[in-house]
Amino acid sequence: MAKVKDPVCGMMVDTEKAKFKGTYQGVTVYFCAASCQKAFEAKQAKH
Ligand SMILES: [Zn+2]
Repeated sequence: MAKVKDPVCGMMVDTEKAKFKGTYQGVTVYFCAASCQKAFEAKQAKH
């Protein structure tokens, strides 16, 4: 079991159970909810 931090809200997410994840610039990022993923993607798009 591995836990990583949701970069948007700071919550710890279990990588095995995470439903919301995406790969950005070669790095897999996990989220607690779809809303956090959307917020992260919106942030990425600005760069
Ligand atoms: Zn979150």
